[in-house]
Amino acid sequence: MADKNDKVPENAPGKYYIDNSCVPCNDCLEEAPTLLKYTDDESKVFFHRQPASPEEAIAARKAMEICPVEAIGSDGE
Ligand code: SF4
Repeated sequence: MADKNDKVPENAPGKYYIDNSCVPCNDCLEEAPTLLKYTDDESKVFFHRQPASPEEAIAARKAMEICPVEAIGSDGE
């Protein structure tokens, strides 16, 4: 389960985030390419913005479900 106290610092504030357990494996980027980016050193992925439509909210949820290490959370602030 993702830990909101261990977020990748670059995440945009809000409900969805990625924590430091991200590998990164790239799977989530295929589900939500408009919301997610690699950090500058490409060691993690983060939400550069929060979902702004029902379609993007579905994409964020799919990204969360596909993550093999459960690094994506939806209990952020
Ligand atoms: S699916 Fe999970 S481990 Fe893979 S890049 Fe995305 S957040 Fe990181």
